Amino acid sequence: MRVLLLGGTTEASQLAQALHTAGIETVFSYAGRTNAPVAQPVPVRVGGFGGVAGLMEYLVAEGISHVVDATHPFANTMAHNVHQACTARTLPLMRLERPAWALQHGDDWRSVPDIASVCAALPDTPARVFLAIGRMHIDQFAAQPQHHYVLRLVDHPTAPIPLPNHSVIVARGPFDVVADKALMLTHGIEYLVAKNAGGSGAAAKITAARDLGLPVIMIDRPHRPNTVKASDIETVLHWLRHDAERGV
Ligand code: NAP
Repeated sequence: MRVLLLGGTTEASQLAQALHTAGIETVFSYAGRTNAPVAQPVPVRVGGFGGVAGLMEYLVAEGISHVVDATHPFANTMAHNVHQACTARTLPLMRLERPAWALQHGDDWRSVPDIASVCAALPDTPARVFLAIGRMHIDQFAAQPQHHYVLRLVDHPTAPIPLPNHSVIVARGPFDVVADKALMLTHGIEYLVAKNAGGSGAAAKITAARDLGLPVIMIDRPHRPNTVKASDIETVLHWLRHDAERGV
């Protein structure tokens, strides 16, 4: 058994540790988006595979027997690519995915289907917006230059931010509620823009917005391929051990 674990999330790192402890041979794959990715206890490869065809070649060349897709719920291209490649190679694939956040009492969520729809959900009048969506796609907000955007990024930006009014905070999660409330108050935040990532590492900002009575423009998760899903690490381990016992 040799597992390819597609990472880039807290859950992927936790699973890598569990696979290492269980003695299951694993290769951890990062897309290579951040400068200093979290160290892993298993061998790591970095960078895209070159689409579905490249991934199919990689699976054969590396003798991969099982694949776990533990990428972020918004990493949709990878999810579709790995589904297609594993189907073509008839390789077992499981998706490790944290449940989405659910609306709670006191939340003021304005749900939108995708990032492109966020601008229309913001007011026409200037507002102070915490744009907690990472560094990709921020250029789309240039269409609403009247707002002041507060960006929280994992790395210092290497290219100019294409927004006339903005502040950058460089920080890596997990975050906590007290600090996120303080951040929102210090920056006079009036709207939070967030992806419905789920999990605990990024949930502090949602709780902070609830406590402060701030509206959240919540971006729904994209449509995913029909992959077998697990919401916890134990289910993935059980699946792999079961196959290992059967000699798959
Ligand atoms: P994406 O749009 O689904 O993927 C774009 C391309 O990046 C893929 O086609 C693939 O390139 C490569 N790629 C993605 N994940 C990879 C992985 N784990 N290993 C090797 N190549 C990978 O993904 P994304 O939204 O840009 O996210 C990139 C990475 O950041 C993912 O690992 C994800 O877990 C992590 N992340 C994403 C978000 C988010 O909001 N999207 C948030 C936190 C973390 P090829 O086609 O060349 O194989």
